[in-house]
Amino acid sequence: MSHRIPIIAGNWKMHKTHEEAKDFAGEIKGLIQFAEVESVICAPFTALASLQGEMQGTSIQLGAQNMHWESQGAFTGEISASMLVSLGVSYVIIGHSERRMYFGETNETVNKKVETAFASGLTPIVCVGENLAQREQGETKSFVREQVLAAVKGRTPEEISRLVIAYEPIWAIGTGKSSSAVEAGDVITEIRNVLAEVYPRETADQVRIQYGGSVTPANIVSFMEQPDIDGALVGGASLTATSFFQLVDGVRGGIKQ
Ligand code: PGA
Repeated sequence: MSHRIPIIAGNWKMHKTHEEAKDFAGEIKGLIQFAEVESVICAPFTALASLQGEMQGTSIQLGAQNMHWESQGAFTGEISASMLVSLGVSYVIIGHSERRMYFGETNETVNKKVETAFASGLTPIVCVGENLAQREQGETKSFVREQVLAAVKGRTPEEISRLVIAYEPIWAIGTGKSSSAVEAGDVITEIRNVLAEVYPRETADQVRIQYGGSVTPANIVSFMEQPDIDGALVGGASLTATSFFQLVDGVRGGIKQ
């Protein structure tokens, strides 16, 4: 559907010092100026301030990889939404499978963070996706359904229309084994249908849903060909300016008419 602007987000994970981030910004600056694709770099907290300065005047937006749901307080080691907003951050990844696996993120904390993100003017990129055992047992759709419903619970249609969801099968993350585009497209259509069960169809049709998991410049176009896939959340292939540029250019080339 052509009314959804595709969005490609790089998830740098725990890579790049702030100096390395500056180098990336210097290289990517002149390359990406496409109005028809949104491009976002989700950098480590420590690189956000440098990137805010370096990316000014480009069409690349800033994202964080996590945040706390409380606005402030005695939460040692945590980062609040307003800290991100004051650095010019507009997106925040919430519920990445690595946070769910290693840092105790649950459907409940994802729900709270989504609420705070919207209340603070940040756009959440909510990650969902099954592990290999769940996939092999045919539980993919029921598991993802539960994650999606828990994440959006309590949110208004207006908020949901701005939501970004990333469908990332865990077995495909960082493994070089991406899902087939058709299979990913099928799960993503299902995610849209789940949203349409609790929100107006018109709202569900506005939600941008990305695929993530071993996306590269070589396979991005095949994912974009799927009618419900609106871009990608990319780890490894977002780390060099050349590769990130090729991804955004690929999404641009694959825009649905
Ligand atoms: P990958 O990571 O592109 O390196 O597989 C994707 C992600 O975890 O968001």
